[in-house]
Amino acid sequence: MSWDERQRAMLAEMGFRLPATASAHAAAADVVETEAEPEPIVVAAPPPAIVRVAAPAAPSHFTDLDLPALREAVSACRACGLCEQRRNAVFGVGALQQVQWLVVTDPPDEADDASGEAFGGNPVNDSGRLLDRMLLAAGQRRVAGKDGEAPTAFVTPIVKCRPPRGRAPQPGELDACEAVLARQVELLQPRLVLAVGLQAARRLTGLAEPLGKLRGRVHRWRGLPVVVTYHPAYLLRSPADKAGAWDDLCLARRTAQAS
Ligand code: SF4
Repeated sequence: MSWDERQRAMLAEMGFRLPATASAHAAAADVVETEAEPEPIVVAAPPPAIVRVAAPAAPSHFTDLDLPALREAVSACRACGLCEQRRNAVFGVGALQQVQWLVVTDPPDEADDASGEAFGGNPVNDSGRLLDRMLLAAGQRRVAGKDGEAPTAFVTPIVKCRPPRGRAPQPGELDACEAVLARQVELLQPRLVLAVGLQAARRLTGLAEPLGKLRGRVHRWRGLPVVVTYHPAYLLRSPADKAGAWDDLCLARRTAQAS
């Protein structure tokens, strides 16, 4: 199956209505033009603009840990108050070598907290299934394929422990847990960060703007390009915005290839 055919199949699964003759990329552009969109989307983006360069990683007690040791340290971590009510920390899942995309999502929800795994564990919930389809449409996967294709993306939340009652994490909690994310980046060495959801996007861009204003451009976090997109749970509620999500994935793909 060609790249274009694979994209078309994935887009169809994501809920796009594709013209019979157009390429997958052009079809996505058609959807942008014909479906209701809250904001204009630039499909053929100019060279990425860097809007923020974050400070280098601060020393922490996670420094020098390898991935198994880091996972263990996170499961026992008490570096912020979120440890008090968590059932399980959510370290993340996906490729452990030759990582292309690091997908950083909003904090764990109740199902993640119960299972200790992103998107409810195995099998993943509806949000996880949609995220997997979005990644596959962009040529990425977080689990090995049936034909032995290796995973290329690692998915992890912006904080590893669920905030009580699903509230947004506080600045001190985000600061504390950034040391874990920074060490994951050092170990996994992804080419690109995809920020999925408002809380992940605001933290990684350093900008307190609506998600729509953070999309469509390339930010920087710890030297890595960051592209922002919608959380799949939001897309399940607002399927018209899948067209915008597809644009974000195209921007991420172009950016990763250029980095
Ligand atoms: Fe540690 Fe992060 Fe959990 Fe806070 S949220 S206790 S820093 S793993």
